[in-house]
Amino acid sequence: MYEQALTHVEATHENVSTEHTTKHFDAIIIGAGLGGLLSAAQLLQRGKRVVIVERLPHSGGRFTAKNFHGVQVSTGAVHMVPFGSSGVLSHMLRRLNVPHHLYDADVFGSFHVHGRQYRSRGLLGVAKFLGPEQFAHFIRLGCRMFLKKLPDQQRQMPFDLWLERQIDVKRNPQLVAFFASISRFALSLELHQVSTAEVIRTTKNMFRYGAPAIVQGGCGEITKQLEQLVQIYNGEILLSCEVLEILQEQDKVTGVRIKNKATGTEESFQAPLVVSDIGPRATLGLLENRRIRQAEVLKQKYAEDHSFKATANDDVQEAVGLKIHILSDISLIPHKGIMYCLDTRRIAGMVQPTNSDPTLAPDGKHLLISHQVIQSNNVEEERALALADLRTLFGTDFDRHCQILTMGTYRGEWPVNRVAQGEDVPPQLEVQGLYLVGDAVKPSGYLMVEGVAQSVNNFLDLLDDLDHKQAIASGTDRRVRRNVMQPPSRLNALLWLWKAPGNSGKS
Ligand SMILES: Cc1cc2nc3c(=O)[nH]c(=O)nc-3n(C[C@H](O)[C@H](O)[C@H](O)COP(=O)(O)OP(=O)(O)OC[C@H]3O[C@@H](n4cnc5c(N)ncnc54)[C@H](O)[C@@H]3O)c2cc1C
Repeated sequence: MYEQALTHVEATHENVSTEHTTKHFDAIIIGAGLGGLLSAAQLLQRGKRVVIVERLPHSGGRFTAKNFHGVQVSTGAVHMVPFGSSGVLSHMLRRLNVPHHLYDADVFGSFHVHGRQYRSRGLLGVAKFLGPEQFAHFIRLGCRMFLKKLPDQQRQMPFDLWLERQIDVKRNPQLVAFFASISRFALSLELHQVSTAEVIRTTKNMFRYGAPAIVQGGCGEITKQLEQLVQIYNGEILLSCEVLEILQEQDKVTGVRIKNKATGTEESFQAPLVVSDIGPRATLGLLENRRIRQAEVLKQKYAEDHSFKATANDDVQEAVGLKIHILSDISLIPHKGIMYCLDTRRIAGMVQPTNSDPTLAPDGKHLLISHQVIQSNNVEEERALALADLRTLFGTDFDRHCQILTMGTYRGEWPVNRVAQGEDVPPQLEVQGLYLVGDAVKPSGYLMVEGVAQSVNNFLDLLDDLDHKQAIASGTDRRVRRNVMQPPSRLNALLWLWKAPGNSGKS
C-alpha cells in the first residue's frame, strides 16, 4: 500500500512552476516521521522557530495508522514500543508532556513450537519447550552473553557463527529457533546479518529497561499528540510538501527548496539548521539535488540477487519485512506480549494488540499482526508461505474465524529499519548544520522507536555541545545536561528470570 503511495509521490514531480519566496526559520525538519516530530517538539520547547516538511498528506511516517473498517491498520510499527513504559521513547514523551499510555507486556512471551503455544511468564519459562538439555545450554549461553566480557575478536562475528561455536546447533534446534525468531521479529534480520556484540547489547538493554508495550490508541495516537504539541508551540507542519534539495554554501547548510504538491509551486526556506528524518541515502540525494525513487531503489537492490546485499554503489543496508493485519472473531494469543513462532517457515512473531486496547478493532473482534523477514526476491512466494504459516499456527480456526485485512512488504525507502541494527550511520554529515535523526542513526543497543528517540537525544547532545563551546568562548560557560538516556539498573534484569520484568504492573 505504502510502496504504491511512494511511487505515486515520485510520479507527480514534473511540470513544476517556480515561485521565488524565501521564509526564514531556526530549524527545518525534513519528514514528519516519529524522529522528525520528536526533534521538532524538542526544538520548539527550546524556543526555536521550526517548520516540518512532509511529502505525504499525513504525519507519522511508519509510526501511524489508518482506520480501515474500524481497525487501526498501521503504516509500519505493530503498535508496539520495544522497552515499554520504562523506555527511551516513553521517557522523552513524559519530558515533553505528551499524553500517552503504554500497556506493558504481562509475559516474557509465548512460543509456538512442537505444534502448540507455550506461555512463558519469565525467562525460566522457556524450559517448558526447550527440555532439560537445551535449557542447560540456554543458561550457559546466558552466562556467556551477560556475565562475561565478549572477546574483541568475537564482537563483529555474525551471531549465527558465534552460536555455532558455543553449541551443537543440530542437537539444539529449538534453542537456535528461539534466537532466530526473536532476531527476525525484533530486528527484521537473520542471525547472520547481525553482529554478536549488537545482539548482546540490545538484549542487555531490553532486560534493563523492561518489557515491550502496546500503545493505547495505537501508534497513530502518539503521532496525533505530537502533532498537537507542535501546533501548541506554533511550529508549522507542511503536509504534501516535498523537499527537493538541501541548500548549502561553503559546506554550511542554508536551507531547503520545497515543492507544494497540491499547487505545484516551489519555494525556498532558509535556516542554519536542517534535521533530516529520511535516512542517509535520500539525504545525500537531496544534497545533490537528486530525488531517490522507491522503484529505482528496489530495481537496483533486488535485480539479480537473492542475497539482499547492498550493491557496490549503494552501501545502505536496510532491514526488510512483510507484515499482515488479521481480524479475528476469537482470541488466538492469550496475553499482552509477543508470540514468537519457532516452527514456522516465515512468520517470526505475532501480537494481538486488542488484548491491551480493545478499541484498536471493532467490538468483540481481535486484531492480530504478524511479522517476518522477507527472505527471497519472490514476494508472491513469501506471501504464500506466510499464509501457510498462519494455517500451521492456528489450524482450522484460521479459515473459520480470521480475515486478512492487509499484507504488505516493507523495503527500499519504506523499510522496517532504514539501516539494519548495528550498521547505523553517524548523525552528523560533512555539511555543517545538517543532522540525521531516525532509524538510520539508532545508537547501538537501541532498537526501532527506542533507537529513533535515542537518536533525537543524540542530536540534542550534539547541539548542546556546540552551544557549550560558544558559551566557553564568550565566557558564559554553564553546565550542560546530557539528553542521551542511560539504561536503568542492571538488577532489573534479574526480574526477567521468573516474571515479566520491572516495568510491568505499572499499567
Ligand atoms: C512492518 C514494520 C513493523 C514495525 N514494527 C515496529 C514496532 O512494533 N515497534 C517499533 O518500535 N518500531 C517498529 N517499526 C519501526 C518503526 O516504524 C520505525 O523505526 C519508525 O517509525 C521510523 O521513524 P522515522 O521517523 O525514523 O522515519 P519515517 O517514519 O520513515 O519518517 C520519515 C518521513 O519522511 C518523509 N519524507 C521522505 N522523503 C521526504 C522528502 N523528500 N520531503 C519531505 N518528506 C519526506 C516520509 O514520507 C516519512 O513520513 C516497524 C516498521 C515496519 C515497517
